[in-house]
Amino acid sequence: MAPALPFAVVLVRIFNFDDGNRAMTAPQAGRRIRMLGTVQGVGFRPWVYRVARDVAVTGRVRNDTAGVTIEAFGPASALEAFVDRLEHDGARPAAAVVDRLVAEPIAFEATSGFTIDPSTAGAELRVSIPPDLATCPECLAEVHDPANRRHDYPFTNCTNCGPRFTIVKAAPYDRPATTMEPFRMCAACQREYDSVDDRRFHAQPNACPACGPRLELRTAGGAAFKAEDVIAAAAMALREGRIVAVKGIGGFQLACDATSEAAVLRLRERKRRDEKPFAVMVGTPADARALAVLSEAEEALLTSVERPIVLAERREGAPLAEAVAPRNRLVGLLLANSPLHDLLLAAAGRPLVMTSGNLSEEPIACDNAEALDRLHDVADLFVLHDREIVTRCDDSIARVVAGRPVVLRRARGYVPRPIQLAAPVSQSILACGGQLKNTFCLLRGREAVMGPHIGDLDNADVFQAYRASIDRLSRFLEFTPEIVAYDLHPDYLSTRYALELSGVKAIGVQHHHAHLASVMAEHGLEGQVLGLAYDGTGYGLDDAAWGGEVLLAGPADFTRLATFRPLPLAGGDAAIREPWRLAFALVDDAFRGEAPIEAFPVFRRQSPVDLDVVTRMIRRDFNAPLAHGIGRYFDAFGALLLDRPKSHYEGQIALELNMAADPSERGRYEYQIAQRATPWEIDLRPAVRAAVFESIGGESVAKIAARIHNTIAAASVDVLRALSRQTGRLPVALSGGCFQNARLAESIVAGLEPEFRVYLHRRVPPGDGGIALGQALVAAAKARSL
Ligand SMILES: [Zn+2]
Ligand SMILES: [Zn+2]
Repeated sequence: MAPALPFAVVLVRIFNFDDGNRAMTAPQAGRRIRMLGTVQGVGFRPWVYRVARDVAVTGRVRNDTAGVTIEAFGPASALEAFVDRLEHDGARPAAAVVDRLVAEPIAFEATSGFTIDPSTAGAELRVSIPPDLATCPECLAEVHDPANRRHDYPFTNCTNCGPRFTIVKAAPYDRPATTMEPFRMCAACQREYDSVDDRRFHAQPNACPACGPRLELRTAGGAAFKAEDVIAAAAMALREGRIVAVKGIGGFQLACDATSEAAVLRLRERKRRDEKPFAVMVGTPADARALAVLSEAEEALLTSVERPIVLAERREGAPLAEAVAPRNRLVGLLLANSPLHDLLLAAAGRPLVMTSGNLSEEPIACDNAEALDRLHDVADLFVLHDREIVTRCDDSIARVVAGRPVVLRRARGYVPRPIQLAAPVSQSILACGGQLKNTFCLLRGREAVMGPHIGDLDNADVFQAYRASIDRLSRFLEFTPEIVAYDLHPDYLSTRYALELSGVKAIGVQHHHAHLASVMAEHGLEGQVLGLAYDGTGYGLDDAAWGGEVLLAGPADFTRLATFRPLPLAGGDAAIREPWRLAFALVDDAFRGEAPIEAFPVFRRQSPVDLDVVTRMIRRDFNAPLAHGIGRYFDAFGALLLDRPKSHYEGQIALELNMAADPSERGRYEYQIAQRATPWEIDLRPAVRAAVFESIGGESVAKIAARIHNTIAAASVDVLRALSRQTGRLPVALSGGCFQNARLAESIVAGLEPEFRVYLHRRVPPGDGGIALGQALVAAAKARSL
């Protein structure tokens, strides 16, 4: 194979226009314009060219590792119009995100025409590779047009759409640096690629049935499955209730008929996934509306170019198997994000479960051999193709909270779009993230690039994927960390990874401080905030697990001003897997050892021995570490009221309590805020007693669950108002996994606005998938003050 050029060398003389008499009369000037952000691989340069042609300026545009740089020459008025159009033109490519535009005067150069110059690799490397983009309407129309040469072609794309990040091997983004390099464009594709007025001008993954990637079908045993039409054969298998592994954009997915109880149960059994909800893929927004009640904001999120899985309220009577999302009022929906998915859905004619191609807790498979090896017990049929995936990227998850989108799992479609900080940092920082739902973050200058969602690091394969992902993204950005930031939990594998790196300064960051700093980073807040950091568990500065924290936080430091009264975890982590133990601790504390435990089935199910052991652990403070987490309170109430002794996945019981809560109920219970010492203690024991009496009295679970939510929200609002009398009215930040709970977030926002400015996560997950960004910000601030 001939060695690939380091970057595509193209020098295109695009057009000449007649300066005419204007050039004689108007004073000539020059501008250098730098545009930073997601400006490569999205049809940006052709657009710049068209704007230049419209306003009649000459010069050049090129991709470099800082983004796009333009040098333009012409009369001052034309240059002004040019810059104005670059900033405000409505025809700017949909997938482009311009974070900054800097224009500076340069000397006039007598050039003719406007050229697109070769890409250059600069010393100062920045991220400009776009995320993977969902199929655009024009490409989709071609795929469905029998007269088009791309009819039914599953790899159709253009400058506005198609795979990007997952196929890129190096920057700058040009075809030889992608996994499209082995495919030699046919004459027709090459013409499109070379023509500036074509939608496929410099579309790096450009392909057609004659020259591009191809599908292939295999059986579970790996044998070739002969089929005239791969899509039709796969769709037939799906309609018959079989499980099909599909090589998607960022890795393999497992698909089955979402309307078939038997098919979905079979998938659960084979994937060894008990109750965690599956996502459902549909072909069109109308198909989505048939399954869920969608607000305008939810529909916008669903159809956004990022194409995340959107959590929305399941429509009453929707034709979905119950096993898709047991006991859940929400359903995770996503639209087809590639022509392959679109064709498959059209052929199957029904919604499809589309879940990560892995066994529970393993990384998603992304290479053909790996998928055939690891998924042969799960899938009946494999839809493979020969376009390689470089970087694993799961489907992202998002939902609408307080009227606006929040990303809950950040991967395909969002990564590696950087988060711009308010101010640049002077040293490069690798933030290693946490243990659960791990992501990491590379911060340099003002740009924080978060890696794709990795998963829980308690599995050796996932940990291996984590290290590989850090290495790959670092290489890709030519990033060498000077500082490494990590969580204080000594047993997190991310912490161990950080402490084993040599030649870097290691800076530990408290878990909840990192949560709040992450909100601050997203919103460019540079001073102090009053923050609520509510989650299940995070390593505290004392012996306890924190997670119901009210902090006064700045970038470098924090003070713990208030926290929820802790619950003992009888048996440590066993109490998290078996939340009946938490429920017991909850009522035992509230009733000072005299709780009416016989009134609750969740306790009657336990053997006298188990009850006795748990009682002794709690009362003698033996193997019962304290936990302040709001997530633990929700677990405890959920286990008690819903009779749920065990949890099958992280956050399950809390989620079920949330699902059970009556949306219209406004009542709440009493609580106390003990202000004798710092931190203040928020004491929910009066609420626990009231809930227990109401439950025994026959009140509905829906009402009680709602009142518990309202109580925690009201206590949070009260404590913030009281604290702000001492701190002054600071911005309020909300972070932690509990703020995936829209009801909790929305009631706290409603209780504080408009007097307080309340900041929630938007582009970064509120859960532990978002702490790496905060770790990076805190480490930068601490390094400055060292
Ligand atoms: Zn397109
Ligand atoms: Zn072609």
